[in-house]
Amino acid sequence: MSNGSHRGSPLDGSVLVLNRFYMAIHVISVRRSLVLLYRDLAEVIDVENGQYFNYSFESWLELSSLMAEHEHEDDVIHSVHFAIRVPRVMRLMNYDKVPRQTLRFNRRNLFARDDHTCQYCGNVFPLSQLSFDHVIPRSRGGATSWDNVVSCCLSCNGHKGDRLPTEAGMKLLRKPVRPKQNPLLRLKLDNPKYESWRSFISPANLALEVAGD
Ligand SMILES: [Zn+2]
Repeated sequence: MSNGSHRGSPLDGSVLVLNRFYMAIHVISVRRSLVLLYRDLAEVIDVENGQYFNYSFESWLELSSLMAEHEHEDDVIHSVHFAIRVPRVMRLMNYDKVPRQTLRFNRRNLFARDDHTCQYCGNVFPLSQLSFDHVIPRSRGGATSWDNVVSCCLSCNGHKGDRLPTEAGMKLLRKPVRPKQNPLLRLKLDNPKYESWRSFISPANLALEVAGD
């Protein structure tokens, strides 16, 4: 999680994707968004003073060249032949499915819910040293679900083994529950770079999937 002084490539940023009804459906990387734009599967939505403007690949490129000199360096991708502004919001013109209302259960989302913190010893670990633990072991019918699985360091995982926390003399930091919102999305929304997303995201769809940095 970097902000402030560290600047990654603009290609590592994130783009909010809308369906054709302008409902936010998920978050993808800038890299992926440019492919969609180039293939005419998506258009850029630029939000200015509360108004939406739609751009195709060609018109976005044109606007980009006009604005390239005035933009912050990290908002523009320069190639040999052209400069293109990093889009922040994109709309899939032919996609009419509505967003998922619940956050997908997977490792990435689980670790984010727990702030990369082992739920037994309370220490923060890099992804490579985190595992997950079934609070009620699977061998005793424990489900693989938001309310029975927690982030756990390798050492605590080894110690607990196939036991209940009480049997292992361990205590959970907090009771695991399904997150109401995607913690990765919440982080994005705190970043001024993604301010325009707020026009499209309501409390009802804070569970959107997030890709990108
Ligand atoms: Zn631990």
